[in-house]
Amino acid sequence: MTETTSYHVSESGYYGEFGGAYIPEMLYANVEEIRTRYLDIISETAFQEEFNSLLKDYVGRPSPLYLAKSLSAKYGANIYLKREDLNHTGAHKINNTVGQILLAKRLGKKRIIAETGAGQHGVATATVCALMNLECIVYMGAVDIVRQAPNVARMQMLGAKVVPAESGSKTLKDATNEAIRDWINNAETTHYIIGSAIGPHPYPDLVTRFQAVVSEEIKWQLKEKTGQEYPNYVVACVGGGSNAAGAFYHFLDDDRVNLILAEAAGKGIDSGHSAATSILGSKGIIHGCMTLLMQTSDGQIVEPYSLSAGLDYPGIGPMHAHLIKSGRARVWAATDDEAMMAVIELSRSEGIIPALETAHALAILDRIGLKKNDHVVVNLSGRGDKDLNTYLTYIAEHNIQL
Ligand SMILES: *Cc1c(COP(=O)(O)O)cnc(C)c1O
Repeated sequence: MTETTSYHVSESGYYGEFGGAYIPEMLYANVEEIRTRYLDIISETAFQEEFNSLLKDYVGRPSPLYLAKSLSAKYGANIYLKREDLNHTGAHKINNTVGQILLAKRLGKKRIIAETGAGQHGVATATVCALMNLECIVYMGAVDIVRQAPNVARMQMLGAKVVPAESGSKTLKDATNEAIRDWINNAETTHYIIGSAIGPHPYPDLVTRFQAVVSEEIKWQLKEKTGQEYPNYVVACVGGGSNAAGAFYHFLDDDRVNLILAEAAGKGIDSGHSAATSILGSKGIIHGCMTLLMQTSDGQIVEPYSLSAGLDYPGIGPMHAHLIKSGRARVWAATDDEAMMAVIELSRSEGIIPALETAHALAILDRIGLKKNDHVVVNLSGRGDKDLNTYLTYIAEHNIQL
């Protein structure tokens, strides 16, 4: 597999010009331990058996592939929803945390740290730590702790310690800094569970491989339903990029499959309140990798904005940066308003209340040029229970008649 013919990670940890491991020397040993051992560990038969059995009986996989009749009628194509919202804890994130906790155990780690913005990754991490009886510390910006109180309560219920990050803007990037500081100080005992397809190599590849179960299932489920084992389109929203990476993985080198990313335009791409990273971003280093990120001319991170807490991230995974730059994937941005309309539409037409993140993928379906008989898989990354307050507030503020 060479860099020019594949979209998978190269031996040296790159996706085209993106990726790599840009880390302080103090972290080199930690990351190197994972890099040199992850492929051997995750390909062991015993690891695979334990991972698959937990995905089946604990997470509830395989998640259904559902032909959405009303949406299909509306767009004149066959729209399938990959129901990651039905997983335990309500989203795709658990696929990754189950995989990483098993890796951490095999690396002999006793303590787990994570950072979280919206709290979804924190909950998924606290869940698997409770399951495996490992100590769990979740760093979270002090501002986010207030904004995401229900998820903080869930993490505490599960036995995790939630530590506020009080520096900077007191949001996700500050929580990441705290987590990295902890990791440097507790390298021997601690595994750092990153929640998206970002971070220094090998994290983007590690997370992607654990999420790849999504596209593995899509292949056989679609074949069972249609006789064709590849969709014409796979559509996924992108924050850091883990649900998209999982939904794309087994189709990356299959040109028959159009890969579509939906990012958050927030109040509009040029409004100054946006998280449309691929459009507004430029090449630089964030969270240990070379990728596209929103930054000022002197390289400071620009605070992103989206009504959706899970897409409110200033970077994008290095694999996605490469997919976009090379033209393999296309990206569209949906505003808060467009995503909210898609939330209401899916709730009413299919009886499924999606997460606000996910709704961005639904909101762009009318722009991608679907043709009759196309098979389109939308990755329904999560359910909307966590967003109900946001939905009701929005509906009240905009005088929407339900
Ligand atoms: C966290 C989250 C996302 C965004 O993260 P990715 O790593 O880009 O997938 C999308 N959807 C839901 C439901 C989430 O919880």
